[in-house]
Order: sequence, then C-alpha cells, then structure tokens
Amino acid sequence: MLETTIAGSLPRPDWLAEPETLKGGWKLSGQALEDGKRRAAAEWLRHEEEAGIDIVTDGEVFRIHFVHGFLEKIRGIDWQKKTLMGIRDNRYQLEVPTVTGRLSRPAPVHLDEVRFTRAQTQKKLKFTLPGPMTICDTIADAHYGSRPEMAMAFAAILNEEARDLEKAGVDVIQFDEPAFNVFTQDVKDWGIEALHRAIDGLKCTTATHICYGYGIQENLDWKKTLGSEWRQYEEIFPALNASRIDQVSLECAGSKVPLSLLALIPDKQLMVGAIQVTGDHVETPEEVATTIRAAMQYVDTERILPCTNCGMAPIAYDVALAKLKALGAGAALVREAL
Ligand code: ZN
Repeated sequence: MLETTIAGSLPRPDWLAEPETLKGGWKLSGQALEDGKRRAAAEWLRHEEEAGIDIVTDGEVFRIHFVHGFLEKIRGIDWQKKTLMGIRDNRYQLEVPTVTGRLSRPAPVHLDEVRFTRAQTQKKLKFTLPGPMTICDTIADAHYGSRPEMAMAFAAILNEEARDLEKAGVDVIQFDEPAFNVFTQDVKDWGIEALHRAIDGLKCTTATHICYGYGIQENLDWKKTLGSEWRQYEEIFPALNASRIDQVSLECAGSKVPLSLLALIPDKQLMVGAIQVTGDHVETPEEVATTIRAAMQYVDTERILPCTNCGMAPIAYDVALAKLKALGAGAALVREAL
C-alpha cells in the first residue's frame, strides 16, 4: 500500500556534469564518462532504497536531456539543421534538431543502461521515455508535414524500445508527456492514440507523467499566468481515464491543481506528487503525509503512489536526497496510521 516512486530524474553529481542546470554538459569523456554514469546511477539506487522508495529509477543520469537523450540514436534526424522553435505553445524558444527523413531505430537506445540498472537492485524498476507528443513539441519537422503523423512514427519506435526494455526486466515504463496540459485538444484528437501505439503489446505496468514542468524559471513565470486554479487537467483526465495507461501523475504539493479533479480519474493508479521540484524548501515527512492524506479524500488509498511532482534533475544533489528521504518517511507515516 502507498508504494512510493519518483517522476524520474535526479541530479547528476557535480563530478559528472555541470550541476543545478537542466542541460549541463558532461565533465568526463570516453570510458571515464561511461563508468561515471554507471557509478552515479548505482549511488542513486542505493539512496532511493535507503529512503524507502519502492519503485526506483536510474535517476536519468545517463542522459543530458529527457527527450534528446532518446533521439540521439534515432535515424531520420539532422542534428546540424537547427530550427528555432517555440516550445510548449511558445512558453520558451529553443534551437531544436530537425526531422529530415523517415524515422527509424537502428538499435536499442537505453538497453545497456537498463541491463546495468536491473542488475543493481531487487526493487521494482521504472524506466522513463519521452512521450510521442512531447517529442514532437521538442523537435522540428521537415519531413512528415503533420504532427500527428510524426507522433505515430515516434510512437512506433518508442514501442520497439519499450518492448526491449520490458524484456530486460523493467517493471514500469513511463512516458513523459508535459505537453499534455498545453495541447489539451490534441491529447483527445491523437495524443492518447499515440500513447496506445507506444504501449502496444506491453505486459508491464505503463504510466504517463503529465506535469507543469521542472522548477525552472520559465515554468515558474508561466505558472503565475495560470490563475488561482489550474484546471487544464479537467479537459484531459476523462480521456486519460478511458485510456489503456495504468498510472497517471498529478502534482499535488504546492500546486494550484484542485484536488477535486482527482475524481475525474477513478479507474487509474495515481502518482500523487507530494514533493515540489524547486530547491528552496525541503518538505518535512509531516508535510508529505498531509499531501498524501489530502489526495486520499478523493482517491482510494490502494490507487495512490506517493511521488515527486516532476523530475529533480535541475536542483542541488543534497536537496534532492533530502527530499527523497522526506518522501519515503512521509509515506511511512501515513501507512503506519492506517
Ligand atoms: Zn514533469
């Protein structure tokens, strides 16, 4: 009951990469880099286990960015042809690579990482992949001419990858779709369909992480424009509830998402975000417990997985570690009192 997990990413240690920034470059190269990534992942797995996290991840320490880390090994993308693109409906501008030909996956992308990680822990293992809609909102298209069509092409590739990772022993495959609360009509028109293509034939647990983004300045500024209640999920929860995805995330700590919206998603397991992903405050276990109990007003306890609101990659290592411990301890407090 109340199995704990995290959205996915954790900070890469400062000996491995530039800290406290989203896309900080590597500080090592060659074999030293590969060894360093493995050491960092193994250290986070120990931290997660000691903190009482039940469904662990590699902290995404093998990749610089959650979307581009996957795309790097995909054929059909021209990394030299940069296109300036407004991301998440123009919340920020980014120079992105361009799809210039038919997309394909010549070889598995994350399989070696997963084999390593799987061998490091007996806990349930989650692996995160970018969702098709979010990929399409992070790369320019000069080939398909239609976002839904390009999304289905990525979804087919993600499905190949997910099947390989499932075979390697991953228990939960999560698709990150922060674009879902921006393009709410597209979610209903083709976003869920693309996710279904991505999970086709999987027997493991499937999840989608939707969110209001990392605790970076662009997102904090954007959140200020969303008013006193964030109701974007109201439009997409019925569609997600009708989908074949097993788990859906919702940030509950310090967000303005009305918890009553949880009632719109009665048939899914819910990753209840009980940890904020800004670095200025470490939650106490009591605060975490309060957030979990607030969600329990709307969701049966059996369906709740206490979680972080989003990835913690951009915050300080020690702060993220303290937050992990608070998450584990807070969930334990609620469990003990049941
Ligand atoms: Zn997120």
